[in-house]
Order: sequence, then structure tokens, then C-alpha cells
Amino acid sequence: MLTLLELTSAQRAQEQNSTRFRCHAWIGKIYEKRGWFYVHCSKCNKKVYPEQDGSLNYVCKDDDDISPKFKFFLNAIINDSTKPVDVTFFDEGMVALLKTTCAEMMTNNGYTDPKMLPKEIHDMIGKPKIMHISVRGKQYVVTNVSDPLVVHTSTDNIQQQHMGAPPPKTPNPKLNQQKRHLDESPGKHNKLNTT
Ligand SMILES: [Zn+2]
Repeated sequence: MLTLLELTSAQRAQEQNSTRFRCHAWIGKIYEKRGWFYVHCSKCNKKVYPEQDGSLNYVCKDDDDISPKFKFFLNAIINDSTKPVDVTFFDEGMVALLKTTCAEMMTNNGYTDPKMLPKEIHDMIGKPKIMHISVRGKQYVVTNVSDPLVVHTSTDNIQQQHMGAPPPKTPNPKLNQQKRHLDESPGKHNKLNTT
């Protein structure tokens, strides 16, 4: 488990000898205007677009009689109080977060506008999760999301951290003097000097 600050510090991330990490974090902001899903062709996997008539018929410029495949895809900022980080949520990550597929979200809840963020997604803002993050070049991709095991103890820990550890005990100067006095036997000094 890394903090987001550690994740984005290249050196720290490279020490782990991996490109996949887990971070305790929450969604701070969603770039709603960039859309929250995309649709691709069942035959060639390219992006497809709805017909101009406003219906939900999707056409591929290369293939006929396709069935559209709906996938979550959204950009967001996640945060963990060390550093906010721009991430991309892939379909797997959003399915794990929302526990529903993109097609279900669209057909069951009637969300068909890519620029209209569903309430179910918006409600995830601020909820602490374990984000499984894959580093791809300079891009951070959330490929999976799981729930923290015990949420309430982590807030206890934060409170304890705020209270701080007790200050270190100042050494008693009298004790030190006494100790030094006892250690300073002439014989010992001579021995040290000769060796
Ligand atoms: Zn196609």
C-alpha cells in the first residue's frame, strides 16, 4: 500500500519494482464534461457514435449490424490527504466501484447522455476506497476498486496522529554527570589511549 505522494514519486514507485499499486484514496473530483462512458463496435472494437437522429442506434463506419458495447471511462482526481492525482477509471474499475455494468447503468437507470454524470457515480465522491492503480507511462489508471476492511479504525488512527506522540523525555543532567563521573576512572582512559 502506497500513499499517492509515494505513488507519484517515480523513485519510490520504481523501488517497488512493479507498475501496479494499491492506495487508500477517495474520489475528489470527476471531470464530468469529458464524459463517463464510451461505446465501441462489437465487431472491430473501434469507437462508435449514435446516429444523428438522436436515437440510441450506434453505427460503425466499417461494419453493419453491430451491437454496441458500453464501457465506463472517466477522468477524475483522487486524493488521500498526501497528494491529489489525476486518474483514469477504466471499465473494470468503475464496475468494481459501482457494482454494476455500464450497460445496466444505462438501460436500468436511463442514463444515456455521456455528459450527464449519473447520480450513482457522483455519490462515490469522498468515499474512502482501496484503489488498484496501474501506472502506464505518466498515466494512472484505476483498474479495480475494493472496500477498506475496517473504515472506523482508520479514523481513530488519524485522531491519534493528530494528538501526536508524547514528547521525548529530556535527559536528567544530574544523572548524566554522575554517570560520567563514575566512568572516568584514570585506568580506563589510559587503556583507551594506548590502543
Ligand atoms: Zn466496427
